[in-house]
Amino acid sequence: MLLSCGKKLLLPVVCLVLFILTFNLYATNKIRFVKAYGKKYVYLRDVANYYGMKCYVWKGMVTLSSKYSKLLFYPQKKDCTVNGVKVYLSYAPFVKGNDCFISSTDFLKTIDPIMRRGALTKHSLRTIMIDPGHGGKDDGGKGTYTKEKYMTLQIGRRVGKMLQQKGYRVVITRNSDRYLTLAQRTELARKYKADLFISIHTNIAANKAVDGIETFCLAPAGTASTSSSKAVWTKYSGNCYDKNNMNIAYQVQSALIRRTKADDRGVKRSRFFVVKNAPCPAILIECGFLSNRLEEKKLRSSWYQNLLAKSIVEGVLRYNSRIVGAR
Ligand SMILES: [Zn+2]
Repeated sequence: MLLSCGKKLLLPVVCLVLFILTFNLYATNKIRFVKAYGKKYVYLRDVANYYGMKCYVWKGMVTLSSKYSKLLFYPQKKDCTVNGVKVYLSYAPFVKGNDCFISSTDFLKTIDPIMRRGALTKHSLRTIMIDPGHGGKDDGGKGTYTKEKYMTLQIGRRVGKMLQQKGYRVVITRNSDRYLTLAQRTELARKYKADLFISIHTNIAANKAVDGIETFCLAPAGTASTSSSKAVWTKYSGNCYDKNNMNIAYQVQSALIRRTKADDRGVKRSRFFVVKNAPCPAILIECGFLSNRLEEKKLRSSWYQNLLAKSIVEGVLRYNSRIVGAR
């Protein structure tokens, strides 16, 4: 009798202790907001506290660091570095007095989804749609020896095969040199109930010295894409997955840069048709430049295509481990 009474008391006491602990945690990890330039910003110092990191300013750079992670912010510049990977913010951070601020949108939709799995929406990851860009009458970019539509198909097939070997159900938007509209591609993702959409492309630039890899995900509503300065307020279907979009883009870009050692052009924001209209988290990868002689040579080789595919699969697996554990 005494024992059961003790048990009855135990639960409320444990709840009370948990409540006090949680309350204290929130009290010490409070993130303050300020209004500036017509937007909400947060103190980077508070963001550091929130993640249990130290924050210091050195050589005009703001560093947040812990045993596990290191974030670098550059006042007045949109690109920041998260554990060695370049990530573009929607707004440049600014300094006032001894404090540095980032926009609350960037905290909530760029930094937090990378740093904290609890920020992500939990979902099952079974069907993955691979979308080799262009095809048929649409060549895409042209290199000296090849065309984008051939490269994307070769890389896409390798990614698909490797994902299948990992047990995923893979659907490919095109498995031959045929033309598909962009709307047909997202429609296929809808039809096959894809849980993740990966569009594969290669790049070209007028400057032939430019090389490297970049991964795009959808810009949140109310922000500008990385290549523009004009905010767009329309909320697309892809905006339902803002946080997960950022995490999958980051995991894939991170694995690609670590494995290929290619120039890191960063995780960028866009409003490409396929990422804004996808019925699930979506990214678009620019695997390299066909206009760069050396990179074109690598992109045409099977060892490099395999390396790219392996990296993309590693990114997917890392994303998968985070959404399973998301709370
Ligand atoms: Zn393309």
